[in-house]
Amino acid sequence: MSDHRYLGLDLGGTYIKVGVIEAGPDGRPASLVHSERVLTAAETGPDQVRDRLIDIGRGVADLHGPISSVGLGVPGLFDPDTGVIELFPNLPGPWRGFSLRDPVGEGIGIKTSMINDARAFTLAEGTIGAGRDAAVMLGITLGTGIGGGVMIDGRLHLGAFGTAGEFGHQTVKPDGPVCGCGNRGCLEAVARGGAISDEAGLPNVEAVYAAAAQGDARAVEAIERASFYMAIAIANAVALLGLDVVVLGGGIMSAGDLVLDPLRQAVSNRVTLVPTEEIRIVRAELGAMAGAIGAALAGKVQLENRAL
Ligand SMILES: [Zn+2]
Repeated sequence: MSDHRYLGLDLGGTYIKVGVIEAGPDGRPASLVHSERVLTAAETGPDQVRDRLIDIGRGVADLHGPISSVGLGVPGLFDPDTGVIELFPNLPGPWRGFSLRDPVGEGIGIKTSMINDARAFTLAEGTIGAGRDAAVMLGITLGTGIGGGVMIDGRLHLGAFGTAGEFGHQTVKPDGPVCGCGNRGCLEAVARGGAISDEAGLPNVEAVYAAAAQGDARAVEAIERASFYMAIAIANAVALLGLDVVVLGGGIMSAGDLVLDPLRQAVSNRVTLVPTEEIRIVRAELGAMAGAIGAALAGKVQLENRAL
């Protein structure tokens, strides 16, 4: 079995999460056999972070190998042909134009592929998590930003430019605030954690959920407002894709039903063409390691020369 192990590295602003998955006898991914997390120390800059990824990969291969492929999950956009970074909105330093995938692969000495972290989350949840039985699944990560991914018939849909599934960058408020991407009124601009806490007049989104749980009217209103815009975006996706499962993950989901209940209600108010009771809006199942598991799966799929 040991030659059916795949390493996933999930590069985040605070931690690099590390996961090794092992395929079952039928070739399907069965289990996470090793996981750990290492501080990213993102302030040290791209060269140091790249070297850290290489060191981690070599160490894991020595201790938990042999490893067949490496998948690198990254918090932003990149050129899928070259593995060069285009935009890391939340990591400091000169990342634009930085070549990451190939130097990491060469440094570790194992074939390495790269995937956006929200797409990795979606691939993991859609393969072995909450969306495993879906025909069409939308994965959404709620945190500092709003990420997403789409799986159709068990495969990740990346589109012509490798960016399909950017759920947070749909326009939901035409006259809304300017988004980090440059557009005006994106879902991310009005429903990310910072937008919710600003609306509630509280320092962070955790404080908003705590206040809402105590019945604070302004906090409840801020959550309902975010749910209103989220529901527009989800209903648009339902109309376009005919999706049957929406899986929500990310830091904000610690609030659980405080998010899900108003969201389910708001979506059912807006979806008219299909029976809303057949659209499941559920919490992610794989927890904080979903991104690393999905990155490992992306490496496995690419090694097999299959489309993601
Ligand atoms: Zn945007």
